[in-house]
Amino acid sequence: MRILISNDDGYLAPGLSALADALSAIADIVVFAPDSNRSGASNSLSLDRPLSVQRAANGFHFVNGTPTDCVHIALTMMDAPPDLVVSGINNGQNMGDDTLYSGTVAAATEAYLYGIPAIAFSQVNPGWAHIDAAARVAREIVERRFDKLDLPFLFNVNIPNLPFEQIGPLTPSRLGRRHQAEPVIRSQDPRGREIFWIGAPGACRDAGEGTDFHATAQGCVSITPLQVDLTHKTQLELLRGIV
Ligand code: MN
Repeated sequence: MRILISNDDGYLAPGLSALADALSAIADIVVFAPDSNRSGASNSLSLDRPLSVQRAANGFHFVNGTPTDCVHIALTMMDAPPDLVVSGINNGQNMGDDTLYSGTVAAATEAYLYGIPAIAFSQVNPGWAHIDAAARVAREIVERRFDKLDLPFLFNVNIPNLPFEQIGPLTPSRLGRRHQAEPVIRSQDPRGREIFWIGAPGACRDAGEGTDFHATAQGCVSITPLQVDLTHKTQLELLRGIV
């Protein structure tokens, strides 16, 4: 098995090396990751400047671009497509509405758009606590192969920050929902100019049973199959009736 690994926290992130270490035991791995933290980059491509690929001492490739750039370049440069693309392990959860902003999910989505199965992995809490346990969980998920599913698949996985023995079972979940994000934080730079920081994500609005929020709150590993079609099919039918 050949696996392409990316992330959005950058090529130096502990979650990336933990994932690469865990998967190198069961597959040939290739790593293409951003040269800096690009969390929140979503599915953006860099079209306003050239990109370059460099290679770190540990063999990881790093790119001065977004997670989507990394996977896009890697899939174009590799002589044969990988069997699987994985992203992460992200420094914090990507659940509910987070998935739209996430660079971790975006890296996996780019592979999915190329027809390659892909899995995005995130730890529920930032800070890398129990990252080795999360990497072991990720390896076990990859080893399942999911042969019975239609290819390609796009999975969003969130893993609680717990010791391996305390992590609950893999739990198929739907995305929950969040309230709208907290307001921007208004501040001043040292020269007295007004600046803004993007605020925190909103609190959970739908964290009920069956959601990713609910599964991980129970200590389980949430796995959500994603799709890319944004069409609102009910409204499309209604629109056809009135236009
Ligand atoms: Mn991130």
